[in-house]
Amino acid sequence: MREVSVRAPAKINLHLGVGPVRPDGFHPLATAYQAISLFSTVTARPNAQWEITCETRPGIDGGGVPLGASNLALRAARLLADHAGVDRPVSLHIDKGIPVAGGLAGGSADAAAALRACAALWELGLPDAELLTLAGRLGSDVPFALVGGSAAGLGRGELVEPLADNGRYDWVVLTFDEGLSTPAAYREFDALHAEAVVPEPEIPSALLDALAAGSATALARVVGNDLQAASLRLRPALAEPLAAGVERGALAALLSGSGPTCLFLCSDSDHAESVAAGLTTYGRVLHAHGPVTGATIL
Ligand code: ATP
Repeated sequence: MREVSVRAPAKINLHLGVGPVRPDGFHPLATAYQAISLFSTVTARPNAQWEITCETRPGIDGGGVPLGASNLALRAARLLADHAGVDRPVSLHIDKGIPVAGGLAGGSADAAAALRACAALWELGLPDAELLTLAGRLGSDVPFALVGGSAAGLGRGELVEPLADNGRYDWVVLTFDEGLSTPAAYREFDALHAEAVVPEPEIPSALLDALAAGSATALARVVGNDLQAASLRLRPALAEPLAAGVERGALAALLSGSGPTCLFLCSDSDHAESVAAGLTTYGRVLHAHGPVTGATIL
C-alpha cells in the first residue's frame, strides 16, 4: 500500500459531568459525546524517517500545532509501531479543519486518524478493542474520535459506549483565535469547588431519552457543562456571545469542553443561519451537524 488517508471528526460534549479530583490528578467524568462535521484528515505514507507536516483549512490557525515528536498524531503512529513491533517509519500529513485548543479535541482526532491509517498501511489486522486501548493511552478523547456518533464517556472519558441517537442536530460553532488550556480550566474547577463536596458525575437519563427520541428541543433542555463556570472565570468575555446566541433564538448555548468554543443548538440549517448572523462580531462562525461517524478510511 502506498498511502492511507483517514478522516476523523471533532467532538463536542452534550453533557460534561466532572467529579472530584482523583489522587492521580485526573477528574472522573461522565460525559455524552457527539461527533460533529468538522474534520481532520491524516495521510500516512511509508518514509525513510518519522515525519509530520500540517496544513490548515481556510480560517483555521494551525500556529499551536507542534511539528515534532510531541505531535499527537506522530505519537499515535509510534505507539502503534512499538505495540505491533513494526519498524516502518511513515510521514504523516494532517489536513486540519478543526480549530486548535478550542475544546473540540482536534489533536485527539488527528491521533485517532493516525492510528487507523497506520494500522491499515501496515496491514496489522488489529481488532478495534486493541486500537481503543492504545487510543486511551494517548488521551481521554482519542477513543471517542475512533468510535464517533454519540457516545457515553466514563473514566477520564476514555471508556466509550455508543448511545442510541435517532436525531440530526444542527450546531453553530463559534471559535476564537486564542485557545483555552484544558489543564487551566480543571485547575480553576478545583479552586471553585475547594470548599464543596463534588458529587460523582452522571449523565442525566433525560439526555439519553432526548437522543433516543432524536429531539433537539428535548436535548436543549438537558445539555450542560460542569467546566463552563470555571472556563468563564478564565475568559469572562465568553458570557456575551453565549447570551447573544440565546437572544437570537438558539435552543441552547454552551461551551464545548473546556472552551473557548461556544456551541449553539439550532432546530435546522435555516435556523442555524439566522442564529449565526448574530454572532459574527464575536469570532469565527462555523456550521456543523452531528452525529457523524468516527475515524474512517477514505
Ligand atoms: P484537549 O483535547 O486537551 O481538550 P483541545 O480540544 O482544546 O484539547 P487541541 O486542538 O487538541 O485542543 O490542542 C490542544 C494542544 O495539544 C495544542 O495546544 C497543542 O499544543 C497540542 N497538540 C499536540 N498534537 C496536536 C495536533 N495534532 N493537533 C493540535 N494540537 C496538538
